[in-house]
Amino acid sequence: MSNPPAENVVIIGTGCAGLTAAVYSARSNLSPLVLEGPLPGGQLTTTSEVENFPGFPEGVDGFQLMDSLRRQAAKFGARFEQAQVRSVDFSASPRKLVCADRTILAKTVIIATGASPRMTGIPGEKELYGGKGVTTCATCDGAFYRKMDVAVIGGGDSAAEEALFLTRFASKVHLVHRRDALRASRIMADRATSHPKIHMVWDSVPVAVDGVPEGAVSGLRVRNVKTGAESTLPVKGVFVAIGHVPNTAPFAPAIDVDENGYFVPAAGSQVRTKVPGVYVAGDCADHVYRQAVTAAGMGCQAAIDAERWLAEHGG
Ligand code: NAP
Repeated sequence: MSNPPAENVVIIGTGCAGLTAAVYSARSNLSPLVLEGPLPGGQLTTTSEVENFPGFPEGVDGFQLMDSLRRQAAKFGARFEQAQVRSVDFSASPRKLVCADRTILAKTVIIATGASPRMTGIPGEKELYGGKGVTTCATCDGAFYRKMDVAVIGGGDSAAEEALFLTRFASKVHLVHRRDALRASRIMADRATSHPKIHMVWDSVPVAVDGVPEGAVSGLRVRNVKTGAESTLPVKGVFVAIGHVPNTAPFAPAIDVDENGYFVPAAGSQVRTKVPGVYVAGDCADHVYRQAVTAAGMGCQAAIDAERWLAEHGG
């Protein structure tokens, strides 16, 4: 049986970076194939209001923004398929992307696989995850905790945002942070620490999530790192917001990654890699800015570079 023809551009991921790359590639008439993974639309679909995306003075709903971007890409001829890349062979051209049920051949590849929520690994977290009281998404699950006490773990912008969002539903939100100052931006930190429903649990690390085996959280055990004292917060929901892990495993070591797993681009570029015609974009390659707009910018750069590579090497 003969192999299917190689695609001009395969874009892996449908977050801000992937979909922006899709818009640019599709408008260049390259008919890109976009592979949709386990979280279509990416991380922004789990956010409520996005207040800092340029051009939306009133803010914009994250899900709606991604839906618009997807429709914009489809309008210009981007094709979407569900597939998760398991491994790659970049040793020859065309490049090979090995998925569960097929292998896709591509002249150029844009990897925009984003990052997944990091978990604490404490006892009870995994057992009570997903509909049982432990979650990573206040926007998705906050409404289940009306008039209940909940805890948020973390000290960055995500934790502050999750805690603030949860005040709409919960009676009390314990914000558990391992240090005595938030990492979050000043404006978010001020909003969180001054909110009457948010109780700061400083200098504290989570130790275990308590609950019943059939699935319901009854408390979060925490330890004060300065005094060593342990206590239990009597909460029904635990929201983990301690950052993200880049989704780069299927592509390493073909593409270099740093000690935290983020892609390392070639010198002099944010998106080119050591493999000609293979590009990276968005949170899988950016641990510094990690913004929707910077991910979109990287997607744009990757698409323009891929288009130029095809023009030079035969597209
Ligand atoms: P982050 O900035 O990396 O913060 C992670 C937080 O979790 C830190 O406070 C860290 O503590 C804590 N942490 C990490 N591992 C932990 C562990 N094992 N146990 C307990 N605590 C742990 O991640 P993020 O908040 O997800 O934000 C990521 C990026 O997105 C940032 O650049 C942020 O500005 C941006 N963002 C922006 C917005 C917005 O503008 N609206 C919203 C969300 C995110 P330490 O502080 O001690 O390291």
